[in-house]
Amino acid sequence: MTPLTTQLLLTASRLASLTTPIASRIFREKLEIDDSQSLWTSETLDYQPMPMLRENTSADLVIIGGGFTGVSTAYHFSQRYPEKRVVLLEARTLANGASGRNGGLMLNWLAMSGDYGDELTARIYKMTAEGIQTIRDIITRHNLAVNQRFDGTITMYTDAERAESAHAEVEYRRSLGIPEEYFDSSELKRRLNVQHGYGAVYDPNTGQINGAQLVRGLRPVLLERGVEIFEGTPVIKIEEGSTITVKTPLAEVKTKAIVLATNGYTSKLGYFRDALFPLHSHVFATAPLTPEQREQFGWNRLAGFSDDLDRISYASLTPDHRMVFGGGSNQSYAYLFNNRTAYPGSPGSAPRAFVKMQETLANYLPNSRAVPITHRWTGTLGITLDRHALMGVRGEHQNVYYAIGYCGHGVTLGNVAGQILTDIYARDDERWRGMPFYRTQYHALPPEPFRWIGYQAFTRLTGSSPRV
Ligand SMILES: Cc1cc2nc3c(=O)[nH]c(=O)nc-3n(C[C@H](O)[C@H](O)[C@H](O)COP(=O)(O)OP(=O)(O)OC[C@H]3O[C@@H](n4cnc5c(N)ncnc54)[C@H](O)[C@@H]3O)c2cc1C
Repeated sequence: MTPLTTQLLLTASRLASLTTPIASRIFREKLEIDDSQSLWTSETLDYQPMPMLRENTSADLVIIGGGFTGVSTAYHFSQRYPEKRVVLLEARTLANGASGRNGGLMLNWLAMSGDYGDELTARIYKMTAEGIQTIRDIITRHNLAVNQRFDGTITMYTDAERAESAHAEVEYRRSLGIPEEYFDSSELKRRLNVQHGYGAVYDPNTGQINGAQLVRGLRPVLLERGVEIFEGTPVIKIEEGSTITVKTPLAEVKTKAIVLATNGYTSKLGYFRDALFPLHSHVFATAPLTPEQREQFGWNRLAGFSDDLDRISYASLTPDHRMVFGGGSNQSYAYLFNNRTAYPGSPGSAPRAFVKMQETLANYLPNSRAVPITHRWTGTLGITLDRHALMGVRGEHQNVYYAIGYCGHGVTLGNVAGQILTDIYARDDERWRGMPFYRTQYHALPPEPFRWIGYQAFTRLTGSSPRV
């Protein structure tokens, strides 16, 4: 090699090492990525991100986003099509989004319950219960270190009338073979020494999971199968066509198809701006409960609970007895003007939300104030007006796949999405047809500034979130 060539190469590599942090900082700010650390990611401290994409390449499928949706799509797609080239591009690190920031509840059903009729009701439950079983099978098959529990969750009713109608609903569902149980207030007290509970619906086929460990734990499995994963690689532009060009700060990928696995961040890519809005849900985790505190809370054989209010509160208990709590008030669910996907600064910029949340938890578990809080974070949910997720394929060339808008139910649904998108790709999607989220229309949201003004006015006046 001539001295000139060596000099040029050295300069190029210096430039690359300079531009990488600058490029990723610029795009982190553009994407508004939250810097707070969740309990879940703090349990994956050894995780080292893959390098960013630096050279142009090509693929059969580019997956944008490395949460449950992106990783489950990479998993199921690469299993079905081992010969196809799959590239996964993640703006920051796998599980940076809601998949590493949620409340940990692994639930059945969709976010919106409705009068679906007997057959569809039974199908929806079966789909999500099998989805949870698939998550658990994958963990076992690949021997993943994922903290999880599977001892059921409850929806707690804070009003006698609502508790009674929930009881009737459980009887109906049991007649369809769905194994839910109704707990009256004394049985509820035996499971969880909670205040204000008139009754609860118990679903034994549910639990709690550390989503960051699942998503990050699957990375070696995907790499082994030949999936190429680039972290710190935000997609900044998509040019559609029969071949799609996906642009990132330093390089581009030519691909036959893409998957939008970006949930609450999707509108930043210019897609579904009128369908989906990001909502910021706040969560905190406590230190492990002492044996005395566990006795006080009487939290027995139960992974978690949520309440029946519109500004839903949700709580779960980790295998090492930490409480994880989120939601419960207008302050703890925020919409930021123009689809912002993170608070400017850290969640410390929303301290009122956390104070309010401690009050809400103490309202249910009065001694909870004494338990130290160790982690506070926020995460971005993708919300639709009718609370149904959106899954399908779009574009002139029918090569833009998407699965978004799980409205707080994405731990299970985001993991099922990988199977659904793979089946749509394979034109083998019979079993998903007729599902309320499957290739359906959506209710359009108003544009800004009406969206922001409407959201603020509605939530302040009613204490609930807009929905149709
Ligand atoms: C606070 C909170 C609590 C929740 N609690 C629960 C719960 O208890 N139970 C439940 O079922 N659901 C819950 N959810 C919802 C659930 O976590 C989500 O629905 C699910 O994680 C969505 O997964 P995803 O992979 O689609 O999206 P995400 O996990 O958000 O992943 C999207 C990824 O895309 C990346 N990205 C964004 N833009 C780009 C770009 N331009 N280029 C490349 N990459 C990009 C992001 O960095 C992110 O990693 C909660 C959500 C939040 C925020």
